[in-house]
Amino acid sequence: MKSSRGSWERKMAAAGLWPRVGRLFEMAPALGPWPRLYSTSPAFAEVLRLPQKQLTKVLYPLRELEQHLVSDTGPGLIEQRLFDPSLEDIARAESVFAATARNRIEYLSSAVRLDHAPSLQQPEVCFIGRSNVGKSSLIKALFSLAPDVEVRVSKKPGHTKKMNFFKVGKYFTLVDMPGYGYRAPEDFVDMVETYLKERTNLKRTFLLVDSVVGITKLDNIAVEMCEEFALPYVMILTKIDRSSKGYLLKQVLQIQKYVNTQTQGCFPQLFPISAVTHSGVHLLKCFIADVTGSLK
Ligand code: GDP
Repeated sequence: MKSSRGSWERKMAAAGLWPRVGRLFEMAPALGPWPRLYSTSPAFAEVLRLPQKQLTKVLYPLRELEQHLVSDTGPGLIEQRLFDPSLEDIARAESVFAATARNRIEYLSSAVRLDHAPSLQQPEVCFIGRSNVGKSSLIKALFSLAPDVEVRVSKKPGHTKKMNFFKVGKYFTLVDMPGYGYRAPEDFVDMVETYLKERTNLKRTFLLVDSVVGITKLDNIAVEMCEEFALPYVMILTKIDRSSKGYLLKQVLQIQKYVNTQTQGCFPQLFPISAVTHSGVHLLKCFIADVTGSLK
């Protein structure tokens, strides 16, 4: 079943009207001297001190990849770059993810069934992906400015996998869904399906795909689930530090083609990330902050 909401969002995005993105649509100024940023974390200040080439790679990995596109490769990635926030917006989003006395970021609870999930009004985002895709590593990277948050990993066979809920200040809840695939508990599909179908405050689903491996049969099933429930979802490509630029570009183009031709509800822009170098992680934080209305 194709999602009409998805195609609506896609059209809005194509027309430059992606809901709530507002001024984030403005093309970021060429990476030269940036506007004066208000208080930012020492870690992010460090990022801003990187030489320009490295800064582009860390903050805008797609932009960096585009430079290596040859003209006969067909439609590039530029058309897909709908979310292109300024450095200032990226810095603002950093503060949403930085734990302070006034911005408490904490693990809330775990649940195996939706009716055990915390009942919250604030917007929610969830992360799904097959086991080993790099989900825990990415969530740890997202919470690097909240060192007290423990991202629980349960990988032992037979160990019940749960949905883990994290509260990000007054802004939103982040849900780490159990990894699917080999070793997934039998009730996994029920748990995840019910959550995706019925969680009313769910704003965005982030589907992780390993950039080295590409889209697997298991990823396809997750895509079909998101499409069937007409969910607005976003594809994250993990472990981009593991490949050569040429191989990564090939993979990104292939996955982009898949998104363009096989999906309706998927945001047309991919989010390549590395939990090791943190490339793409700041941009992703900004996107999450935006879709949850945290940048207002
Ligand atoms: P999960 O099962 O999806 O939670 O996957 P993990 O986060 O545990 O990662 C699975 C494996 O991939 C681990 O060995 C990680 O160290 C590795 N990994 C995860 N993310 C990255 C990344 O961005 N770059 C590299 N090089 N390795 C990664």
